[in-house]
Amino acid sequence: MAARAQCPYCGVGCGLELKPPPHQVPAPGAPASPAGPEPEGQWTARGDRHHPSSLGQVCVKGATVGETLHHNRLTTPLWRERTDQPFEPISWERAFTLLVERIQATLATKGPQALAIYGSGQMLCEDYYVANKLLKGFLGSNNFDSNSRLCMSSAVAGYQRSLGSDGPPCCYDDLDLADLVLLIGTNTAECHPVLFQRLLKRRRRGAGPRLVVVDPRATATSDAADLHLAIAPGTDLALLCGLGHLLLQRGGVDAAFVAARTEGFAELEALWRAWDPERAAAVCGIAAADLRQLADWWCETTGVLSLWSMGVNQSREGTATVAGICNLHLVSGQIGRPGAGPFSLTGQPNAMGGREVGGLAQLLPGYRTVADPQHRAEVERHWGLAPGAIAPQPGLSAWQQIEAMERGELDLWWVTATNPLVSMPSLDRVRAALARCPLVVLSEAYAGTETEAVAHLVLPAAQWSEKDGVMVNSERRVTLCRAFRQPPGEARPDWAIFAELGRRLGFIEPFRYGSAAAVYAEFVGLTAGRVCDSSGLSHELLAGHGPQQWPFPAGTAPGGGQARLYTAEDPFPGAPEGHRFPTPSGRARLWADPPLGLAEPPDAAFPLVLSVGRLLGHWHTMTRTAHVERVSKAHPEPLLEVHPEDAARAGLGDGAMARVRSRRGAITARVQVSERIRRGTVFLPMHWGAAQGELACEANRLMHELGCPISKQPELKGAAVSLEPA
Ligand code: SF4
Repeated sequence: MAARAQCPYCGVGCGLELKPPPHQVPAPGAPASPAGPEPEGQWTARGDRHHPSSLGQVCVKGATVGETLHHNRLTTPLWRERTDQPFEPISWERAFTLLVERIQATLATKGPQALAIYGSGQMLCEDYYVANKLLKGFLGSNNFDSNSRLCMSSAVAGYQRSLGSDGPPCCYDDLDLADLVLLIGTNTAECHPVLFQRLLKRRRRGAGPRLVVVDPRATATSDAADLHLAIAPGTDLALLCGLGHLLLQRGGVDAAFVAARTEGFAELEALWRAWDPERAAAVCGIAAADLRQLADWWCETTGVLSLWSMGVNQSREGTATVAGICNLHLVSGQIGRPGAGPFSLTGQPNAMGGREVGGLAQLLPGYRTVADPQHRAEVERHWGLAPGAIAPQPGLSAWQQIEAMERGELDLWWVTATNPLVSMPSLDRVRAALARCPLVVLSEAYAGTETEAVAHLVLPAAQWSEKDGVMVNSERRVTLCRAFRQPPGEARPDWAIFAELGRRLGFIEPFRYGSAAAVYAEFVGLTAGRVCDSSGLSHELLAGHGPQQWPFPAGTAPGGGQARLYTAEDPFPGAPEGHRFPTPSGRARLWADPPLGLAEPPDAAFPLVLSVGRLLGHWHTMTRTAHVERVSKAHPEPLLEVHPEDAARAGLGDGAMARVRSRRGAITARVQVSERIRRGTVFLPMHWGAAQGELACEANRLMHELGCPISKQPELKGAAVSLEPA
């Protein structure tokens, strides 16, 4: 029988139906055949027509995920004292003994701040929850951060700052209802393909919407656009200010909404007045007429939807740019109604769930923050902890964890379900920092990753398909993913590893979970009354009634979750009137952040801006997709996109090998000369790490770690580089 689950790749969160290999179909009445490695066949995936987020649609990654489940898996814990030694297989007993000894020694000598976990949007809610409970609650360290810090922490900070809480206010049906869709800093066609196809399908029927794409590169997304604004890297906020200026001029302000539902308009108006279209267009390197065209469409449109992802978030001014998008929607009243709103697309399959369970260093479960004494007290009560058990300071964010290792301040760095030795910026600095950490632990499903090369203790993890758990996609839709195969060898679910460790550290009752369902039930109890209220959800309800959207308070009937936030009916608890925002005043906040531009602008020595990004077929650091033949054929090697004039200046022809140099190092890549990229900008995919052998092209070695001071998200979309023939 086919299994149903959410796709484990991107944040669209499509529903999949998975069919077992023929030799594993049990005969009627016979017990299920043992799963595990599938040498004679593999599971096949197709879109689940019953999943409300995707209605049967699927892209190449989701369609080929069955090919990735059994290759190259870790099956037993591995240990080595030093990273220049080979690994030796050890028992789980020995692995836990090592962990308990080292954690207790660290607590006794340096204290809890010397412990840190770096998790991932691949973790299921139950994994996130137990790891956070152990580290933040019972070990007294808030140093749990995740790779979502590199992906969408600016969206989290921006929503909190503008709307009063994290949580995208829109849903996918809004794609069918919007008249104008602004795609800014997102190559949706490649990175969220099923959503993009949904937009195109509507356009093919002649039913709109207008598409405007803001991106320094021409992409498959901009190819379909009515208007492509190929702005210079790092000028998104200037563009939004210019658009705001035109909204003021052209009657695009919803004065009643601004007066009743927002605060801070006077300061924002003063900022926008200073950004006339000529100034904004000059900074962005586009025609002022194009900006006016966008403003005209915005003002005449009933429903404006803005979609963004890492092009906005991975910026020194990521939070300010998210606020800039929210400003425009709030001032024009384009929020809290069908077809309208600021809609962040998450990168990873459960990055949304991670936000809800407190999977960033400043967060606690239920969209709470560690800095808020009331929030800490609520969580301490729920976890049966003494008052004051949770530390009041936010923990170390991803890059701060690297800096702490550089200073010799971390004794244990535990990486779970991610591969930072490809995805972090300034990779040489990361490697040097890790060399100073006495114990690097890696919980991972696949063998041979770049991070394994720097680890001391490797724990084989059961992945999606081998454990029960919940994922939440970009439209706040919660899907139960059931185990449908056995984990290979001795692999275990991450939540079970952290729970076992908690019990062995002496916290027996708080970590005595009988199942993932019990973990989830404990977590949703912490969401009651919060914006992300999921207290009516359970594994049982999700298994019986399929995926549900939150808010879903206790007592909600299946299908009764809330499609949109901050509507005229207003789902926020206790709201006496519509469009109420969860701020102290009940009003959304407008922010007048002046545009700053890139943290590392080009100069005479490094005259070009390098941007990194993703390709349709590959997923992140290729631990899964490198082994899918169809994907590898489509993307055989990483290519450096260079404008013809920049290529000629550097003496490089199409297909030549180039040395790309930044202040942090140099790599070699094959040149693809293309008119599709802005002059002065070059582009590399980020996927090919050191483990890809002669194809390795470590784009992130070149990137800097400087980032947004509010969200602490590094600016992975802009580093100054030079080019020369290799
Ligand atoms: S669009 Fe994203 S979630 Fe959907 S099938 Fe593709 S990778 Fe999976």
